[in-house]
Amino acid sequence: MTGLTHLALSSVIYRRGKFPVPVLLAAGFAAHFFLDRIPHFELGLWLNVLPGVAGGGAIFYLARRDDDPLLPAAALIGLLPDGLVQTGVWPWFDRFHAFCHFRGKGSPLLLVLEFVLTAGCFFILWRGKKGA
Ligand SMILES: [Zn+2]
Repeated sequence: MTGLTHLALSSVIYRRGKFPVPVLLAAGFAAHFFLDRIPHFELGLWLNVLPGVAGGGAIFYLARRDDDPLLPAAALIGLLPDGLVQTGVWPWFDRFHAFCHFRGKGSPLLLVLEFVLTAGCFFILWRGKKGA
C-alpha cells in the first residue's frame, strides 16, 4: 500500500474511533499490517514520496483547522512500520512485516481501489474534528 493510504487510514482510526487515544494510536499502527496484507500494486519508495508529502500537508492543514495536534502523530504512526523497515534496525521486525505483507504482484488497476479507499478516508477526515 502507499504511504498515503497508511497515513489516511490511521488518521481516520484516531479521529473516528471511540476508544482511548493510546488504544486508537496502537490500532493505527496495527492497521498497517492488515492494509499491507490486502492485494495491491506496489509503487515503490520514491513514487510514494509525492502523494505522501501532499497527504501529510493535508493532515497538517486539518490538524490546524480542527485544533487537533495529535492528528499528525496518528498519521505518522500508520507509516511507522515502513519507516522501521527502512532503517533495518530490528531484523525480527522486518521479518514480521514481510510475513504480513502481500506477496503477489498486484494489478496496477488495484491502485484505483486504493485511491477510492484513501479518498474516502480524506472525505471522513475533512468532515470534522475528533468526537464531532
Ligand atoms: Zn508496510
